[in-house]
Amino acid sequence: MLTVARPPYLLRKIYPRCVWRMPANNNKIYLTFDDGPVPEVSPWVLDVLKHYKVKATFFCVGDNVKKHPEIYERILTEGHQVGNHTYNHIKGLRSANNDYFENVQQCHELVNSRLFRPPYGQIKHSQQNYLAKKFRVIMWDVLSYDYSHLVSKEKCLNNVIKNTRNGSIIVFHDSVKAYPNLQFALPRAIEYLQDKRFRFSLF
Ligand SMILES: [Zn+2]
Repeated sequence: MLTVARPPYLLRKIYPRCVWRMPANNNKIYLTFDDGPVPEVSPWVLDVLKHYKVKATFFCVGDNVKKHPEIYERILTEGHQVGNHTYNHIKGLRSANNDYFENVQQCHELVNSRLFRPPYGQIKHSQQNYLAKKFRVIMWDVLSYDYSHLVSKEKCLNNVIKNTRNGSIIVFHDSVKAYPNLQFALPRAIEYLQDKRFRFSLF
């Protein structure tokens, strides 16, 4: 388990076909939310984004899209982007390739997107190679750790504002587990980054 907000150089070398950060131009940054949509959290996230006029990318779990299609529709209607995060949020390293690809395909039938993010940021080389032909595999360079009960809400906010730079890809989670930290950190992070003249962009 990583304990740093910015992934180490080695990890980026292991996954060369994945996008870890976007080109640094025009102060663009990329806000992403994983694991939704869920009714307890995602509508609140959408309200916050609307309030600050920010667009973001939601890496959706297919099973959640199936259960909450109205929230998924709202994400699209409000101009956000979606990506594939597998159907059952499975671990690539523990899955046979065929099972993994089938799970990605099952999600793809609900989530029409060329973007993919592997749950837990883990996939096998062979999975990476295969999926990179069909998808842009989007990782991150700034992890909020919003989901961790070991990370305080202040630390979560700091993880984001201290590490974000031109071209950064930031990860939050629209999940019940992350909600306490997210409620504190998300609006404050957006305000801070907007003050710094960063521009929230889509992939
Ligand atoms: Zn996830």
